[in-house]
Formats: sequence, C-alpha cells, structure tokens
Amino acid sequence: MNQADTEIITAILTEGGYAPAEDEHSADMVLLNTCAVRANAVDRAGNVLSHLKGMKRRRKGLVVGLLGCVPQYEREQLFSDFPFVDFIVGPDNYRDLCGIVRSVRDGVRQQSRIDYDQQETYAGIEPVRASRISTFLPVMRGCNNHCAFCVVSVTRGRERSVAFDRVIAEVTGLEKAGYREVTLLGQNVNSWRDAGKELDFAGLLEGVSHAVPSMRIRFTTSHPKDISESLVRVIGERPNLCNHIHLPVQSGSSRMLDLMKRGHTREEYLDKIAMIRDLVPGAAITTDLIAGFCTETEEDHRQTLSLMEAVGYDTAFMFYYSVRPGTWAARNLPDDVPEAVKKARLQEIIELQTAMSRDLYQREIGKTVEVLAEAESKRSPSKLMGRTATNRAVVFDRKSFKPGDHVQVRITAATSATLSGEAVSPEVSKSAL
Ligand code: SF4
Repeated sequence: MNQADTEIITAILTEGGYAPAEDEHSADMVLLNTCAVRANAVDRAGNVLSHLKGMKRRRKGLVVGLLGCVPQYEREQLFSDFPFVDFIVGPDNYRDLCGIVRSVRDGVRQQSRIDYDQQETYAGIEPVRASRISTFLPVMRGCNNHCAFCVVSVTRGRERSVAFDRVIAEVTGLEKAGYREVTLLGQNVNSWRDAGKELDFAGLLEGVSHAVPSMRIRFTTSHPKDISESLVRVIGERPNLCNHIHLPVQSGSSRMLDLMKRGHTREEYLDKIAMIRDLVPGAAITTDLIAGFCTETEEDHRQTLSLMEAVGYDTAFMFYYSVRPGTWAARNLPDDVPEAVKKARLQEIIELQTAMSRDLYQREIGKTVEVLAEAESKRSPSKLMGRTATNRAVVFDRKSFKPGDHVQVRITAATSATLSGEAVSPEVSKSAL
C-alpha cells in the first residue's frame, strides 16, 4: 500500500510542478513515506531521519517531510523527537502536499496534516507508476477490524471502498495502456463493498476479470473471516484471476487467535484452507506469522508449527511480536515472552517455512509453467525474471523475450525462493491465461 501511495504522492507532486531528483544528494526536498506496522520499520525510519538531520545541517534550504503511517501514529510528538523535520502528512492528506511545501519554503515550519478523511480514496489521481508491466490499484483503504496487535485502524482509519464503476474504468485504462497484471489492494480487501450496486469483493473480482480478460488479476490482503465461498469459487472459475491467495493467520493456536481478536479459530481457518484446496486446485497459499505474541506458550508455538505443516504454505512473512503503543494488546496484555524466546521461536518458524518452500519448489522441477516476464534479472542481463500465476519467481534465459511477454518455461532448478528454467515456447500466449 505504501508503494501505491508513493505513486500517488509522485503524481500529486508532478502535477504541482516538481520532478524526481537523481538521488537524495541532488534533491531540494526529501520525503520519507513510512510504515508503522512493526517497531522495526519505525526504527528504520528513525535511522534515515538521523542521516537526513546531518544533510539538513550541511545543506541550507533542504526541505524534509515525513509521510505515511508513522506521522499519523506519532503525531506532533515527532517534532519534539526530530525538530528539523519541516512537515508531517498522514495517509489521508496527500492532496495538501504542494500547498504545504510552498508554505514551508515561505518559512512556515513544523506543519502537520494528520486528519482522517473517511471519503478519501484518491480517486481521479493517475499514479506515476513504477512498472509498465505489473501495477497496484488500491480499491479500498482503512480497516474496521481491531486486531489486538495492529496499528492499521489507528494509522489508516475506517474502511472505504472505491466504487465498482471507478475500478472498472481504472483497470480498463491500465489494459489499454499495455499493463499485463494488476494487484487490487486493500488493508482488508475482502471487505470491499459497493452498497449502491449491492456488490461484494467476489462481484468486483468477477467484474474486473471480465472487463480486462488479457490481464492477470491479483489481490491482497485478505482476512480469513471474510474469505467467502463465492469469492473462492470465482477465483477457481475465472482464468485470469491468479490462483494465489495470501491469507494471514498470525498464529496456529485458537487461544492466541482469540487474544489477537482475529475473529476465527484454528479449525475455522483450516476449513477455509480446505475450501480453497477444493475449489482452486493447485492454488498457492501464503501467510503472515507472528512469533511470541503476549502470553504465548511453547504449546501455542507448536500449534503454529503444526498449522504451517497442515496448510503447506508457499511462503510466509514471519516476524516476532513487537508492542505497538495505542493498540488493544499494548493496553491490555502483558508483553511477557522474553525477546530471546521470541527470536528462537521465529527462527524455528523460518527454518520450517524455508524447508517447506524448498520442497514445494523442488517439486516444480520438470514441469512447464507460464511466466509473465517482468524485468531483467538482477543477477544477469542475459536473463529475465517473471512470476507464475501462483506468484512464484522464475528466472529464465532472455533469448528474444522481453518484459510483458507470457512465456512457457520448463523448470530445471529450484531454491526455496526462486525457480529457474528454460523457455520452451516463443509463443506469447494471452489465451493460456
Ligand atoms: S485485519 Fe489486518 S489491517 Fe485490519 S486490524 Fe487486523 S491485522 Fe490490521
């Protein structure tokens, strides 16, 4: 979502007459778009700010602005911690950016725009997109869930959806502009609604799928309690809806899930997984996991490991718990798992997932998969990198292919994170989607 927001911010600034600098050293203004979801991300923003402090001392007139979830979360307190910051702007206030920058240049410092705007979806702003092949489209913002550990409802406010017709117009425009893939984004994308049309997210996916048949369609992030049978069915039925579902579970223990206020049990989650496996054979399922949440016992941790094995995740985002002030857990639960234990449990989770990913990827060797080529491989200019519909990264010889091509690739080798292989067909096969 931050990457998509940065593309919106760039569009707003470009419209206001600003242009990207080569790097921070040649820039007149440095903006930091920040994430508050984990303490580690906030600390990293603090480290970059310390670096900018030195730059600002050396370069008179340099403007420094802090954007995104950290200012929304920490508010004007930031000016006490980082007095050299010229302004802070939260996720609902990017339209004010050019005006703020102008007044900073006129000498008005330490400005803040951190109001919630329950209507703001940035509709009508054409993002300056980072890729010409695969792009993001936010279709809803905010979250009405209050998971005990999460700051999102604080930083991004309540849910609001982009209207169905607007989404269809946007994706149709992307297809005409030559994009091959779009990821529909939302903090809790399954709860997208168009009340006027009485449509839910399953209806949106079906509509988008028919509107842009040549494009691959992905979505993230889903909440397990909101994954409906109709949604999974439409993924199974429509060929251009990618068979990859990111379904954060956070813990395999029902006791932990209850404390986390996730709104489902381990058994209910596994029932949803069984439904996905039944209706979308071959689907890749990925997840988010937190080690060492408040009061977690060794038995709770074992349940997470056993759930991982039961599901067979493709990959996972894995972290250990860090208290986020302002959340329900920070106010009501003891952060009583020692850091060394959190780290040891996280390590076990990572090792299990790495082994499972390696096994899963090894089983792809010898198969032919369709890959949407995205870019030159970072390791070699003679290779391209792309993804399967299941979101597995594949590296293959470039030959005459170019980013944007759909390429049939026979898999010859695998690590726990990447497949590699040889292109077996020069055919650009939209129909195979
Ligand atoms: S559903 Fe996701 S974004 Fe919303 S509160 Fe829970 S963890 Fe945070």
